[in-house]
Amino acid sequence: MKRFYCDCGLEVFFEDRHCGHCQQDVGFDVDTLAMITITSTRHGIHESREGRKFRRCDNWTYHNVCNWLIPDRSANSLCYGCQFNRIIPNQTVIDVSPPVNYLRWLRLEEAKKRLLFSLMRLGIPVSSGWDYRDQGLLFDFLEHMDFAEGENIAPVTTGYAQGIITINSLEADDVARVSEKAALNERQRTILGHFRHETGHYFWDKVFKKMPESRSFSSVFGDASVSYRESLDVYYQNGPPRNWSENFISAYASAHPSEDWAETWNHYLLIFDGLETAYELGMTPVSPEHLTTQEMLHRWRKLAVAINHLNRSIGLHDAYPFVITRNCEEKLDFVALMIEQLRRQGEAELKAV
Ligand SMILES: [Zn+2]
Ligand SMILES: [Zn+2]
Ligand SMILES: [Zn+2]
Repeated sequence: MKRFYCDCGLEVFFEDRHCGHCQQDVGFDVDTLAMITITSTRHGIHESREGRKFRRCDNWTYHNVCNWLIPDRSANSLCYGCQFNRIIPNQTVIDVSPPVNYLRWLRLEEAKKRLLFSLMRLGIPVSSGWDYRDQGLLFDFLEHMDFAEGENIAPVTTGYAQGIITINSLEADDVARVSEKAALNERQRTILGHFRHETGHYFWDKVFKKMPESRSFSSVFGDASVSYRESLDVYYQNGPPRNWSENFISAYASAHPSEDWAETWNHYLLIFDGLETAYELGMTPVSPEHLTTQEMLHRWRKLAVAINHLNRSIGLHDAYPFVITRNCEEKLDFVALMIEQLRRQGEAELKAV
């Protein structure tokens, strides 16, 4: 993540809607990938110091769950990030205090926006399923059956199918998420991790598997044509192989080659974002965009040890409780290769326009 500053000079965060110092509104501009200080002018128009005109996303104005700006010339009432939503947590239940569904939606939006920022930083184009019905991406934030009334309601499973990423909105509740993490014996479980992991499935399904480079998939991850259902059943019954950490970045990655890919993709995005944050903070001398996978991992391993030490000092668990072995390195390099091909393809298409 980059660092951002208000016009008054104070630092603001990616999730902020106001500057904590001067109280001016700040919002995220997709065109420049920057937080911009805005002043309200008239009829919902907001202006930057340079005179650029914006409107606030409707999910900001009416629901306070977004801080993204819309160029004034755009006909949309939702920002780029909010256009990917298909189902959101039910906001009509307002007599609950604190308003759980509001908080869930807010946390889901914040994680989703971080994911979209990473994709834009990496030059990975993504459009919504509303604009591109067959190829685009949409999100369903569904409520868990525990909170639904009536019987015979299927439990919500976080997952991907046919362009739709479903996130169980209960994942936005800390207690529920930590219980699930303990029940599944996971090393880490975050909302952002879910978004990253599931987009790995989306990009493989809709984009990467059509590219010629995808032919090397099985030599890196194994044969993905083995039964998914059976493999997952075996995994949930028996757990991962005892030596899983030699070959996989997480235990779950051992369940099936397509899960291995999604987990590896998840970690690639995490490492890139982590290294960019470190670079912005002056903790590492080079931005990850100028590094090879091997160089990235060399720096990340040192950095991960450092942040784990820091976390232990303040009484928290390790921030990055994973070991990246040589076998995982090869898989991460494959993710980097696919992203590079996609970026080149995008640039070639732009030149052709
Ligand atoms: Zn300020
Ligand atoms: Zn929005
Ligand atoms: Zn998965």
